[in-house]
Amino acid sequence: MRSVLQAAAGLALVLLMGCSSPVPSSLPDPLTQPSGSSVPVTLITFVADDGHIEDITRLLPISQELNVPMVSAVISQQVGSTGFLNAAQGRQLIDAGWEIASHTLSHPHLLPLTDTQLAREIQESKARLEAFGWPIQALVYPYGDQDSRIQQFTQQAGYKAGVGTQSGINVTPQRLALQRVAMGAYAGKAAAESNYKARVDEALKAHGWLIFMLHPWHPDHTEAQQNALRATIRYAQSGGAQVVTLSQGLAVRDAEAVRAGQ
Ligand SMILES: [Zn+2]
Repeated sequence: MRSVLQAAAGLALVLLMGCSSPVPSSLPDPLTQPSGSSVPVTLITFVADDGHIEDITRLLPISQELNVPMVSAVISQQVGSTGFLNAAQGRQLIDAGWEIASHTLSHPHLLPLTDTQLAREIQESKARLEAFGWPIQALVYPYGDQDSRIQQFTQQAGYKAGVGTQSGINVTPQRLALQRVAMGAYAGKAAAESNYKARVDEALKAHGWLIFMLHPWHPDHTEAQQNALRATIRYAQSGGAQVVTLSQGLAVRDAEAVRAGQ
C-alpha cells in the first residue's frame, strides 16, 4: 500500500516539476519523509521582487553558498533593461535551481484595471517569460493587489500560485493568495534577524509555509540584512525546515495530500 502511495506521490512531484530546472540537493523529496509521517514538512521560500540585477549580484552568492533555491519575480517588460536581469541571467538563475515567477508585464496596480488590461498583464507576461524557455507557474501580484477577479484571471491564465504581500504564514495554503513576510526592505521595525527567526519558529510550530519577500535592490536591504538572510536560512534548516521554490512547495504539499489519501 505504501509503495503505491509513495509512487503516486513521486509521480505527482515529477508531473508538477515538469521540465523545470536541475534541482538542488536540498529539494525536499517526499519519498524520503519518515514513513508513516502525516505531519507536513515546514517550508521556507525566498521570493525576490522586480527582477533586478541584484538577484544575481547579492542573492545568488548566498543561494549557492548555502545550497538553497530562491525565486525571482520578474517584470516581463523589463527583462534586458538597464539594471534588470536579461535572458541569459534568468537562465543562469534557473540553472542554479531558482524559479522565475511572473510579476506581470508592467507592474501596475491590478485592482483598477479593466478586464482586458488585466488579462494582458497576467497572460502576456507569462507568455513572454515562457518564450525565454522559463517555466512559469507563479504570479507575484504587484503591490499585493488581489481580489477574487484577479485570482480568477490568474488561475485561468494557467498559474498554479498567486503571491501577495499580506503578512503571514501559510498554514493551509490559499494557492492564489499566498502570504509573505517582508525581509529587509518594507519590513519596518521587524527588519531584524531575531524577528525573522521568530517567524521561522512560528512556521515550524505550525508546520506551515513561510514565504519571505525580498527586495535586494532596495537601500534598506543592507549588508546587515544579507547576514540576517544567511542566519535565517541556517536557522530554518537546523530546525528541520526545507527551503524550496514556489513550485517545489506546491509539489510537496500535493505529494503530502496524496500520501494522506486526500
Ligand atoms: Zn514589485
